[in-house]
Amino acid sequence: MGAAPLLPVVGGDLQVPLVTGETRAYANLDYAASAPCLSDVAAHLARVAPYYASVHRGAGYASRISTARYEHARAQVAAFVGARADDVVVFTRNTTDALNLLARSVLGRTEDGPDAPASGDGSDGSTGADDAGDVLFLDIEHHANLLPWRRGRHRCVVAGTTQRATLVALRAELAARPAALLAITGASNVTGEVLPLDEIVAAAHQAGARVVLDAAQLAPHRRIDLAASGVDYVAFSGHKLYAPLGVGALVGRRDWLDAAPAYLPGGGAVREVTLTGTTWADAPQRHEGGTPNVLGAAALGQACETLAALPDGALAAHEEALRARLVARLDALPGVRRHRIWRDSPDAIGVVAFSIEGYHPGLAAAYLSAEHGIGVRDGKFCAHPLLSRLGAPDGTLRASFGVGSTLADVDRLADAVEDLLVNGP
Ligand code: PLP
Repeated sequence: MGAAPLLPVVGGDLQVPLVTGETRAYANLDYAASAPCLSDVAAHLARVAPYYASVHRGAGYASRISTARYEHARAQVAAFVGARADDVVVFTRNTTDALNLLARSVLGRTEDGPDAPASGDGSDGSTGADDAGDVLFLDIEHHANLLPWRRGRHRCVVAGTTQRATLVALRAELAARPAALLAITGASNVTGEVLPLDEIVAAAHQAGARVVLDAAQLAPHRRIDLAASGVDYVAFSGHKLYAPLGVGALVGRRDWLDAAPAYLPGGGAVREVTLTGTTWADAPQRHEGGTPNVLGAAALGQACETLAALPDGALAAHEEALRARLVARLDALPGVRRHRIWRDSPDAIGVVAFSIEGYHPGLAAAYLSAEHGIGVRDGKFCAHPLLSRLGAPDGTLRASFGVGSTLADVDRLADAVEDLLVNGP
């Protein structure tokens, strides 16, 4: 397990220049930033591209095919996350966009004041969900699942040093005052740790709050099932799910999305416009104003289908083999400090954060790239409060992997880190 890629990806055989002038096979250990495109997805894009046309607008053949592909992609995404029959799939640009869309739906207002599109027919109303309570989130979140909520009534819950303690803190906060929504990450983009979702959803629902899952990191690694888990909304990005950049999705309960102000007022988002008023379409069209990213949606749909077709547990087992090897090798190196949020996390995806004593993460990442042809990320990963909490205000290194990664990739990283510690840069 882990000796060969689980699925072929585009660029899996990339050769990169080293500082010595030689070239070497690229060891891409930066999947958590953007994963490479699946070969299946690239082939699908080539099939769809000839029908490049606007959707929902033309009677021409290409337009009809494009519309069918776009709506088929919506169904593929719905199936991928186990959507309930009445859930809505809204195509967005990415996770950030999806969470901002939901924030608008929940808060019903913009940062600058009440959202009041010119309409005479009363159909632009907000959800009223802000009357039902605050939005809660943990202090470990990616900024995309933190900043949108800070535009309205919110409470930031400080995670404990164990997942048990974190659950206790969440339950206490949910009980203290009404909450409309709990916004929570499925897997940390910094440490890869996975939270016990079932218990979190049960606690939120018991307190009358809905749950939105930031699945930017979880979706590429674990099966998500809205119907079975009870999660109300899920947001994720195509570019982390082996599809191209520029597409993402928000999937979840219809009522808030139908009642929310149109996210992108414009063509396609309406049923009827007069000079004095607007009748907005229901979701998803209500929030998909303008010409949509048809190719992106088709690619995302294909990525969902290809990943869903993997045998149960194959993805997790592949990554666990790589993760176990990398963690064991890094932990055996004096001078390497691995970072984690909780002492008791039972599960983690293919993301490992670590620091190398004596080396700024930026310098170490540049060394790994220039000397060894290994791509990792360094920095604060758009999670500044978490990095401070981890005692790494200058950031850390992060290795992350997925379906195209192999044991040879993680061994190369461990060898290179050892080389740096023993021989210097
Ligand atoms: N949430 C998490 C956990 C992430 O890791 C990321 C991206 O790194 C995002 C949200 C934002 O994703 P995007 O930049 O695709 O909007």
